[in-house]
Amino acid sequence: MSEQRIEAKLPDYGTRTDEITIYAGPCSVESEEQFFEVAECISDLGLTWIRGGAYKPRTNPHSFQGLGEEALKIMKAGGEKYGLKTLTEVMDSEHCELVHSYVDGLQVGARNFQNFSLLKNIGKVTKDSHKMVLFKRGFAGTIAEWLAATDYITMEGNDNVVLCERGLRTFETATRFTLDISAVPVIHKQSLLPICVDVSHPAGVRDLVPSLARAAVAVGADSIMIEVHPNPPAALSDGPQQLTPAQFRVLVEELREIAAVF
Ligand code: PEP
Ligand code: MN
Repeated sequence: MSEQRIEAKLPDYGTRTDEITIYAGPCSVESEEQFFEVAECISDLGLTWIRGGAYKPRTNPHSFQGLGEEALKIMKAGGEKYGLKTLTEVMDSEHCELVHSYVDGLQVGARNFQNFSLLKNIGKVTKDSHKMVLFKRGFAGTIAEWLAATDYITMEGNDNVVLCERGLRTFETATRFTLDISAVPVIHKQSLLPICVDVSHPAGVRDLVPSLARAAVAVGADSIMIEVHPNPPAALSDGPQQLTPAQFRVLVEELREIAAVF
């Protein structure tokens, strides 16, 4: 990694242990008890960030849609109690200011990667705070389209953007999405921005998550996103792919060993 890349990244990413940045947490924030249990595990591991969905982009309108502002309040309280930074998705331009007022990082989901007015609004709302924007690649988006869309955020004055590969829609049905692991070295060549790999959504099932995570760290991802739930079978969204805190602990130790080598 060149000095310039290290310079470009240092202010906004990194962990207390400086080994690997992991955005872990439940798919959806479901209750204070659920969120705090995951927060305690993440904090014990010496990690910096917790993720959680407040507004959920569900395929089916009858599915759980997220707790909205109540979830944001739980996230803020949990972040303060356990000393963690919080990350959540903004689905709608009208929620930009509200979400920005509660959390440390704003996520743009795959379904919104070319929602240019949302991207501009997120850029505007974070212009002064420089809060991190985690920008997911759309599941049918090329890298060129993704990088072009990134400029809609950065042009508004916030270049604290982390790109996040989360798998593509292909003919393959054995996994939920096909993880484009080569996006990591390609982004490293084409952009100074850090690249995260979400290993939960492409896997779709929890037993594939550790392999994808190991591959992502080995290929040089700057950070990893992993969904963790205290009781995955009871989760209100994405139960099959979420790790238990115990499984997550084992995986983090392994990823730290891999990160130390690569
Ligand atoms: C998520 O991270 O909660 C999510 C919905 O992911 P994606 O936008 O990648 O589907
Ligand atoms: Mn999810």
